[in-house]
Amino acid sequence: MFHSRIAPQGEASTEAPILNAMSVDIEDWFQVGAFENTIRRADWDGLEHRVEANTDAVIALFDACGVQATFFTLGWVGERYPKLMQRITDAGHELASHGYDHRRVFTMTPDEFRADTARTRAILEDAGGQPVTGYRAPSFSIDQRTPWAHEILAEQGYAYSSSVAPLVHDHYGWPDSSRFAWRPVAGAGMIELPVTVAEIGRKRVATGGGFFRLLPGALTSYAVRQVNDATHPAVFYFHPWEIDPGQPRVANAPVKSKLRHYTRLEAMAGKLRTLMGKHAWGRTDRVAAQASLRLP
Ligand SMILES: [Zn+2]
Repeated sequence: MFHSRIAPQGEASTEAPILNAMSVDIEDWFQVGAFENTIRRADWDGLEHRVEANTDAVIALFDACGVQATFFTLGWVGERYPKLMQRITDAGHELASHGYDHRRVFTMTPDEFRADTARTRAILEDAGGQPVTGYRAPSFSIDQRTPWAHEILAEQGYAYSSSVAPLVHDHYGWPDSSRFAWRPVAGAGMIELPVTVAEIGRKRVATGGGFFRLLPGALTSYAVRQVNDATHPAVFYFHPWEIDPGQPRVANAPVKSKLRHYTRLEAMAGKLRTLMGKHAWGRTDRVAAQASLRLP
């Protein structure tokens, strides 16, 4: 009908698609939570480093897909590979913080957390030459145990955090937390952009990282559409080691961790390309700025 063509501005059909956050957590194959009890931090420097080459492959993948993204990077990596940080920002991506050495937030005191985030930010800003305004907790470790963490981030002037997994999981999760963007600190503008979960019946299912690698890619697309239909942005993440089938194998890690870490590595890059072609993706700081405008 004719009147539908002069629909008021703001009606869903006339709007651009919602921009979703594409992100990658920059850490090496030995720095993941799954191997935390198998490989000691003190041994990291002596292991084969693959993070630089893998991150360059991620930059090339984003370039091929025409996507700008956020690189949540460990201070430990930024310190050792400052030129890589420069290549990330030179390519138009956002450099953001993933903490110094992947210590989960709930294992730190508030003062240790304050020092960890400040140290990491200084390293990344120095190397990347851009302000760092976003933070992602290692292993999504901001939850009901750490109400002070968001307060410290707000105090430090972060624009957003993307540190909560709103579901039940054996290693992490804040099950009754919102699936959508929210303001965690009263009176502060900072927002939390939780990682996207699919809601299937009354169950919440994880869709990023290893879950994306192991499960059909269509499940992640379904979750993105679900969140976008509710007029919110989705948040997706993966790791550079997930596109590296040649990485060394950790023989003495728990069987479940090994299964999760090494399955379908060779299919990952292709799945990512498909996912990037299906939705509108961008840097998390831009997604946060748009989401913030829509929040009270
Ligand atoms: Zn991580």
